[in-house]
Amino acid sequence: MKKIEINKILEALPQLQCRKCTYNDCKSYAEAVVNDGENINKCEPGSDQTQFEISKILNNSNTGLNKSKIENYKIAKIDFDECIGCTICIKVCPVDAIIGARRQQHYIIDDQCNGCELCIEQCPVNCMSMIDNPKNQSWQWPSLQSEISKANYNNKLERINKLKQEKISLSKTYNDDKKIKDYLKQAIKRESDKRTSTINFYNL
Ligand code: SF4
Ligand code: SF4
Ligand code: SF4
Repeated sequence: MKKIEINKILEALPQLQCRKCTYNDCKSYAEAVVNDGENINKCEPGSDQTQFEISKILNNSNTGLNKSKIENYKIAKIDFDECIGCTICIKVCPVDAIIGARRQQHYIIDDQCNGCELCIEQCPVNCMSMIDNPKNQSWQWPSLQSEISKANYNNKLERINKLKQEKISLSKTYNDDKKIKDYLKQAIKRESDKRTSTINFYNL
């Protein structure tokens, strides 16, 4: 039952993964509402609309989920002349909406940016700002747009987890290698000590 509620509440959230609710992502907030009785008014971008939809779900109302929206949501923009290519914004963007390489100018993929604003504060040279999205679109949820945003975020999480696993297994292999090397070093030292003591014994 709780799992169904969490999924329903997740569906009622904007999928910006912006952390303005103080949780790591929309799913963590949905879980906190169901499992810990967290306040339902913490999704700032979703505002009253989200609060209303969540309260309907918690009250078992069968009216279904209404579409919610943010009119003309803003997206991030980079001042290319100022960008130093530090890659920080790529790391913090939850939906892979930024491309670029170290020491190269970075770019926003307009259609992929959901306006979460997470990158803005992180830029060390303040060359990022929020602008009206060029198509004057609204951000709607639940919708294909919000589902794509959620999928991009989940892909990023999956990629990061895979990298972490690879790192753990690499460090394990390194430790195994180190154990073998230490063992060989000790064996060589033992043989060398034996030889030295034989030489000493025969006074060679
Ligand atoms: S969109 Fe709302 S629920 Fe999702 S992370 Fe942002 S504030 Fe939290
Ligand atoms: S580019 Fe910036 S504002 Fe846009 S989704 Fe990524 S972190 Fe959020
Ligand atoms: S955080 Fe700022 S300086 Fe660093 S790559 Fe992104 S836009 Fe460029």
